[in-house]
Amino acid sequence: MADAAAPSSAAQPASGAPAAPTPGGLIHCATCGGQMAVTAAACPHCGAPNPAASMGVSDKGMVPAALLCFFLGSFGIHRFYVGKIVTGILMLLTLGAFGIWTLIDFVMILVGSFKDKNGLPLKR
Ligand SMILES: [Zn+2]
Repeated sequence: MADAAAPSSAAQPASGAPAAPTPGGLIHCATCGGQMAVTAAACPHCGAPNPAASMGVSDKGMVPAALLCFFLGSFGIHRFYVGKIVTGILMLLTLGAFGIWTLIDFVMILVGSFKDKNGLPLKR
């Protein structure tokens, strides 16, 4: 009685292996010339800081921030918008330090000096 019924269940995994889509963000290191992602904070080959990554901009726009500051600036709404919650509340309580703080913020937004909570300049 040879009951050697070996079920061949060697299921082959469907290996389509599509080429990984490159995000199109590869740059060359200025120090060693090696390739690295544009979003990398530093070169993986030599460790030099990536100047492209440090020049990031906020995902918050300058135009909405300026509009919010102009119309609702006394309530610090533009600071809430860019994520500066603490100073936003402070501004709300002081009514934009009687308008002066709001005016300063408005000018800073217009000239591009206003930063979001991560210290990044607002997107134009
Ligand atoms: Zn490098």
